[in-house]
Order: sequence, then C-alpha cells, then structure tokens
Amino acid sequence: MPPLRDQTDRILAELLAALRREASNAADPAGVVHDLEVHQIELELQNRELRRTQQALEESRDRYVDLYDHAPVAYATLTREGRITQLNLTAAQLLGVERTRAEGLFLGARLAPGDGRVLLSSLGRVLSTGEEESREVGLVRPPATRRDLRLTIRRETPRPAEATPPTCRVILSDITEIMQARAALLAERHFLQSVVDGVSDPIVVIGTDCRLLLMNQAARQAANMSAEGRCGLTCGRDTRCDSAEHPCPVPQMLAGGLPVKVVHRDLRADGRTHWIEVIGSRLLSRTGEVLGVIESSRDITEHLDLTAQLQARERQLAHLAEHDPLTDLPNRLVFADRLHQALRHAHREHHKVALLFVDLDRFKLINDNLGHSVGDLILQEAARRMRAMVREGDTVARLGGDEFTVILGALTQGSDAGLIAHQLVLAFREPFEVADRRLYVTASIGICLYPDDGDDVEVLVNNADAAMYRAKEQGRDTFRFYTEAMTAQALALVSLETDLRQALARGQFVLHYQSQVELATGRLVGCEALIRWQHPALGLVEPGRFIPLAESIGLIVPLSAWVVRTAATQMKAWQDQGLLTDAAVWVNLSGRDTQNPNLAATIAGICGEVGMTPGGLAVEITETWIMTNPDLAAATIQRLQALGIAVGIDDFGIGYASLATLNRLAVSAIKIDRSCVAGLPANINGCALTRAVIALGRTLGLRVVAEGVETQAQADFLKAEGCGIGQGYLFSQPLPAAAFADYVRCVTPEPL
Ligand code: C2E
Ligand code: MG
Ligand code: MG
Repeated sequence: MPPLRDQTDRILAELLAALRREASNAADPAGVVHDLEVHQIELELQNRELRRTQQALEESRDRYVDLYDHAPVAYATLTREGRITQLNLTAAQLLGVERTRAEGLFLGARLAPGDGRVLLSSLGRVLSTGEEESREVGLVRPPATRRDLRLTIRRETPRPAEATPPTCRVILSDITEIMQARAALLAERHFLQSVVDGVSDPIVVIGTDCRLLLMNQAARQAANMSAEGRCGLTCGRDTRCDSAEHPCPVPQMLAGGLPVKVVHRDLRADGRTHWIEVIGSRLLSRTGEVLGVIESSRDITEHLDLTAQLQARERQLAHLAEHDPLTDLPNRLVFADRLHQALRHAHREHHKVALLFVDLDRFKLINDNLGHSVGDLILQEAARRMRAMVREGDTVARLGGDEFTVILGALTQGSDAGLIAHQLVLAFREPFEVADRRLYVTASIGICLYPDDGDDVEVLVNNADAAMYRAKEQGRDTFRFYTEAMTAQALALVSLETDLRQALARGQFVLHYQSQVELATGRLVGCEALIRWQHPALGLVEPGRFIPLAESIGLIVPLSAWVVRTAATQMKAWQDQGLLTDAAVWVNLSGRDTQNPNLAATIAGICGEVGMTPGGLAVEITETWIMTNPDLAAATIQRLQALGIAVGIDDFGIGYASLATLNRLAVSAIKIDRSCVAGLPANINGCALTRAVIALGRTLGLRVVAEGVETQAQADFLKAEGCGIGQGYLFSQPLPAAAFADYVRCVTPEPL
C-alpha cells in the first residue's frame, strides 16, 4: 500500500480496511460488491500517490531549470559540429542571443575569426578522448563588442537508453577583465623591459638569493661576451664572484645600504682585457624590505684608454713645450727655472752651484761643409755625452745652436766643477762617428759659481758665457772659470786627479804608522796606519788632499784594499820579528767602503792571505760617515765584528752620533777627535766635551783613544779623566815603516 500522506488518504485507508473486514465475513452475500469497492479504493490511493510524485518531479525540474538558467556560470551543450542544443540564460545573455532562438546555432559563428575552427577541433578531441579541454577565444557580440571567453569543454555522458549523438557540455567564462589586467601587466613589463633595454649599459636585478630577476639586452650580450664573467650574477651563474679581480659588490651593498662601486678586470675570449665598472644599489619593496640588488655595469676600458692617451698627449705637449725637439734636453725656459731652484736650494743648504756654459768649437764649419743634418747628429751625440757625465739631479740644457748649459747643484767646493768640466772636455775629444764619418768636435766650457761669481740667473749666465769666451781665446778644447784663481785651482786639481788615477799602479802610495800608547803605563798598545802619496813633483802629499778626490772619482775601494793589504802584511812581518805581538794595526776606511757589501769578506780574505789573525788588524770609520747612513753602518760593523775585526769610531765628538746610535753599533773603540783634545786642559768646553766622551766610552765598555795628544798637560788631563789610550806627536809622529819599527824597538822594554 502507498504511504498515507494526508487526511483523505487516511479516510480511504480506513474505508478500505472496513471493506476488507466485511469481505472476510464468509456469510456476506454481497462479497463480490465489496471486492470491487476495495479495488476502486486501492486504485484511488495509487492515483493519488502518482499525482503527488509527478508534482514533486515537476517542482524539482522547475527548481533545476531555474538553477541552471540563472546559474552565475554560463553553460551550453554543443554537438560535435558546434551547434547549441541547450544553453542556460546566463550563456544566452553572454552570447547575446535569445534562448529560444539559440537552439541549432553554430557557436563558432559568434567567435572571433579563426576561433570557430579552434572550437571545432577541441570538440572533436574532447569527444574522442573524453579528456576535458580549456580554450581561450574571442567572442564577438553584436554590434561589434568583443569579449574574451574561456571555454571549458567536457564530454556529456549519454544516458544509456538514449541513442542521440554525443554532445559536449561547455562552460563559458567571461575572462575579459582578467585578459585586460593581464595585457596591462604585460604592457607594463614590456614598457619596463624596453626602458632597461634602451639603456646601453648592462643592468641586472638580482634577488637576495643571487637569482637573476631581470636583465637588459646589453647585460645579455655582455654575459655572452664574458669569458671569465665579471660577476657570477651578470653572466648567469648562481654563485657570487669573489676574487681580487672580480670583487662582488653584493654583500657590502646589502650590509651598508649605500650604492657600491667596484671595478672588475675581465679577460675576454679574444685575449683582450676589459675594465668594467660595476655600480650596485639596493632594490627595496614598498615597505622598505630588501628584495635584492640592482647592478649596472659600464665597460670603462675605452674611457680609460682615452684618458691614458689624453694624459700621454698632455705629457707629450708639456714635454715639447719644455724640451728642445732635437736633443730632447730641457730648453732655455726650463733651464732658467732649474737654475733658479738650484740657487734657492743652495742658499738654504749653504752649498755652491756651478753653471757651465758649453760651446762646441768651430761647429759652424761642420754645418757649412757637411750640412745641417750632420750638424744635428753631432748635437744629439754631444747632448747624450753630456747627460752621461753628470749626476742624476744635475741639469743639461740646450740654449740654442751649439750652446749648452750644465747646472751642477750642491757642490761643497767650487773646484769640483772643474773636474766635471774636465771630464766633459775629455768626452768631447772622443771622435764622433756620424754618417759614416769620424769627426772631431771639441768643446770650450766657461764656469761660474754661485755665490762667488753672482747670485742671480742672469748674472751667472753672463759670467759663464764670458768665461767660455776666455776658454775659446785661450786655445779652445778646455775650460775656464770666471776667476783666474779658480781656474788655477781647478787645473791643479785636474792634474792631481790625472796623476792620482795612475798612482796606485805606479806604487806611489806609502803607509806611515803612528803609535797608540796606554796613558797609565806608557806601554805601546797599537798603531794607526796613515796613507801618504809620494808624488814625483809635489813630494809627500797628505791624505786630506787626495782621499776626497779618490772618493769622488771612484778610486777609494781599490785604494782601501791596498791599505788593508799593506798594513796587514807589515803587521805580520813585525809580529814575525816579535814586535807588536799583542797589538793591532788600525786602518782608516772611507764611508764609500762601508757601502761595499763585500767589505768584511775582503778584509778577512786579505788577513787570511797574508797569514795574520784578524785580531791583529782593526778598522776606523768616521762618525760623520756613520751618521750619514746609520743602518748601513750598523750592518757593516756587525759583519766585521763577526769576522773578529774590531771597529772603532774615528773623529768622535764632531759628528753628532746619538747615544742610541752608539749603543746600537757593535763597536769596540771610540777615538776622541783632535779638535776636542787641542784645547785641553785650558778650554772649558773642550774639557767638558772630552770628559763626557770618556765617560760615555767607559760606560759602554769601549776602548777610548784620544787623538792629537801633543802636550804632557793634555796627556795628564786625559789620564786623570780615565781615558785609556793616547795617540799624538807627544808620543810619536806618523813614521815610515822602518822608522816606526825602530821606534817600537826603542819603546818596547827588553824581555827580562
Ligand atoms: P785620522 O784618521 O783622524 O788620523 C789622524 C790624523 O791626525 C793624521 O793626519 C795624523 O797625522 C794626525 N795627527 C796625529 N797626531 C797628531 C798630533 O799630535 N797633532 C796633530 N795636529 N795631528 C796629529 P793625516 O795622516 O794627515 O790623516 C788625515 C786623515 O786622513 C785621517 O784622519 C784619516 O781620516 C784620513 N786617512 C789617513 N789615512 C787614510 C787611509 O789609509 N784611508 C783613508 N780612507 N783615510 C785615511
Ligand atoms: Mg783614523
Ligand atoms: Mg781621527
């Protein structure tokens, strides 16, 4: 029995039950009637249920249709041919068609040109594969508006009983706004990219994790070109570059916040080096959060090349403005300026300056007979020779024609200029090998001195010029000073120099020996070897006249070696004879010797050769020389002491050696300078100084020797102050070897 839904159902059911009860009563004569009634009531009940079911069905369908029609999503059912079999109101509205007319309509006709075909091929694929597809197409709505649609196409499952052709359910989504937003975004990105691409320098944007976020056209090209990569980021690597040649600006930038500039050296595949300037700044979000780094780089190679070229050009122009194009020597302008500077410096330092005016002899003849090109070559060679003869800081200039000037600064004595002038004269005497010819061109030189002969540029030039004319008048090929006296002095020096160069080979040097005596006992404790030059014309020349000359012409090193060898040989001979057995011979070394790194080895070698113990020979170096280069002196003294050769400081008390320097030097002795001893005991200052030096020497445990002791009073004073040793005329003059041996025998007590 169908379910009882309402009052009528219940009444009918009760009636039915009553009828059935009566029918079951067997004595009922009207049983047939009852059966009929029962049947009618049952039918009525069933009809009523059917009607109700139908009504519910209709209501449900109406609801579904309503939902379908008014759903916010547009639906349509399409045949394989793209014809609409069904669509909801939303779809009709979207397509701009009346629903009643939509059935059978080809959807492709409403789409943008070409999209109809896209639809058909999609429908075919979905129906055959059963796989959902999504397509973006354009919808053209009358009159001419266009919207963007996304079609999501799904195959409709056919009901088993139906034999209708298969269809697809299509969801039509209006994505016009999305597409517009997307297009706007793309346009903006395109705009941004065009802007950065328009920048000719490479730009890259990197995230904090070093990932590349953006790169412009130039950066892409640069990354391809880069063999080594400027920064790992700009050439597409994910790691940071960090080397001396490719410093990475990122960490510094992230830490500091300020833009950072670094320069990268980039070796290209073609072998060329490029210099890249990389500037980095932080990329911040709207809220100030660091998103990464914006790096722009610039190839500054060309710029640097150009700058270098410009600088070179500028230097060249400046050089041209200041130099004579033929000889490349400073011109008249620069010469005047340099002379001015040299005078100012000399004034401050109390030095002398010599100005040499050099003029080639009979140069006009060469020009006239052999042509100017030969003349030019001679001038160039003359310039080269002059430059080679002077010191680094001296100036050789060309005033014009065959006139040159030479500025010799910082001279201690004017006659030294004569030596250089003489060297120049000699240099000109060498033949000039020019244009396959051997030519002889001499020079005449005029010299004047500052401050002696003038104290301004013009006067000095005029006086040097006048001196040069005198040299010409007096036979050319020579030099003359502005004053006759200086010329005489210089010529004497030149001749001395010439002789000195030959003296060693000619065996003209001798050593004299002067005793050193223990003041307390009068015992002979050593001697000093003092050189003399036995000059054939001048007689015995004192070392003060030729040692500085030997130093300036480079003769001192062989000369010192001769002194050491001669003194050591002599000492060995005396010791073999039983003389000076517990004494040492002290030899004087020049400052130039102390600059010789082989000095200690040379002395030790000589001692070894002559068979003398190093203790028998000691050396003296003047305080002044030590103070000109205390570091070098300390090293030399160290080496000598290490070989057993004692070192004493000569002429102590005039060279301002500090206590600290003295303490640092590994010396064995100090010799109080003669000038200190001379005034003893009357001169109060001399006494004070001598007393102080003695105390200093004793404190440091040094052998203290007083030089130039001439009187007993001096000896007594020195002894009283604790000076150990004296040397001077009081005991003995410096004597030739044989006389000194006699003297030694005389003063040495006979062994008991
Ligand atoms: P010096 O080393 O200080 O030598 C002492 C100088 O004082 C010597 O002069 C000596 O003759 C002189 N003299 C000694 N006792 C007296 C005295 O009682 N009164 C006076 N007025 N003078 C005295 P000398 O021989 O003319 O040597 C001068 C300087 O030449 C030396 O000073 C030394 O610096 C240097 N010298 C001497 N021989 C050599 C040498 O072989 N090589 C080097 N490089 N220089 C040497
Ligand atoms: Mg000495
Ligand atoms: Mg001395």
